[in-house]
Amino acid sequence: MRSLWLVMLMMLSAQAMSQTLVASVEPLAKVLRGLYGDQVQVVTLLQANQNPHQLALSPRQAMLVQQADLLVWLGETVEAPLAPLVARRQGPTLALLELEGVHRREGDHDHDHEHHDSDHGDATLDPHLWLSLDNMMLLAGALAQRYPQGLNQGEPDRWQQAATTRQGHHHQALAGLSDIPWLSYHHPWGYLTETLGLAEPLVVSRQLDAGPGSRRFVELASQIRDQQVRCAIREPEARAALITRLCPDCQIHPLDPLGRDYPELDYLTWRDRLVEGFKACLQAGAG
Ligand SMILES: [Zn+2]
Repeated sequence: MRSLWLVMLMMLSAQAMSQTLVASVEPLAKVLRGLYGDQVQVVTLLQANQNPHQLALSPRQAMLVQQADLLVWLGETVEAPLAPLVARRQGPTLALLELEGVHRREGDHDHDHEHHDSDHGDATLDPHLWLSLDNMMLLAGALAQRYPQGLNQGEPDRWQQAATTRQGHHHQALAGLSDIPWLSYHHPWGYLTETLGLAEPLVVSRQLDAGPGSRRFVELASQIRDQQVRCAIREPEARAALITRLCPDCQIHPLDPLGRDYPELDYLTWRDRLVEGFKACLQAGAG
C-alpha cells in the first residue's frame, strides 16, 4: 500500500514538472522542440509507419489527444479524422489553418480522398502546409502568445530570426538550379520549392496511393526524355520501381516531406537536410 502511494506521488510530481505538447505531424513537433525547453515533452501523434493519407487513430492516440496539455494540428480541412477528437478536448488547441495570414497554396493534390467530397474537404488546398517557412514562423509567434508556459528564453524571436537567416542560405544554396527539371511522385514540395524558386516538377501521380494510367505513363515517359530529366525526389510512400521505369537516367533522392526519418531534429536543421537533398539531386540533374 505504501509503495502504491509512493508511485502515485512520483507520478504527480512528474506531471507537475513536464507538460505534454502533442503535434499531429512530426514537422510541427520539430517546431515545438525548437521553441520549448526540457520541462516540456513533445509527442508526435502520427506514427512513422502510419499512412498520412488515410489516418486511422488508435485508442492510445485518441487518449493522447484527450490528455495533451496543448494540441497543435493543421486543422479540420486537411486532418478531418482528427476533428471529432479535437472537438471533445478540454485543453488548449492550436490549428495552423485558423491563424490569420496562413499561406495556402493551391494544388489539385489528392491527399485524403475519402474526405474530398465532404463539406469540410478543400480539393484545391495543397495540404503540406508545414513546408512553408512563413507558416512555421506564424505558428511560432502564435504558440508564444497563446502557450508561453515552458517557452525557452528569447523565443519566438530567436527562432524566427534563425528561420529568416536559414531561408537566405537556402536561396543561395539553390541559386543557379532554378531551371533544372525534376520529377516528383505526388509533389508534396510546393511550399518549399516555389518559395525557393525551383522549377515546377513533372508529377507522376497526384494520388500517393495510385499510379498513373497507361496513357499518362507513356506521356510522362516521353516528357521525361524530351526534358532530359535526371533528378527524381522520392517520398517514402512513392513507388520506387515505377520511378525507375519512368526515368531510367534519374538519380533518385529519397526525402520525407513529413520528416519522419529525422525524429530528433529541430525543424530548421531538418529543412537544411531537405535543401541539401534537393541541391544534390538538381546538380546531378544538371549533368
Ligand atoms: Zn501528401
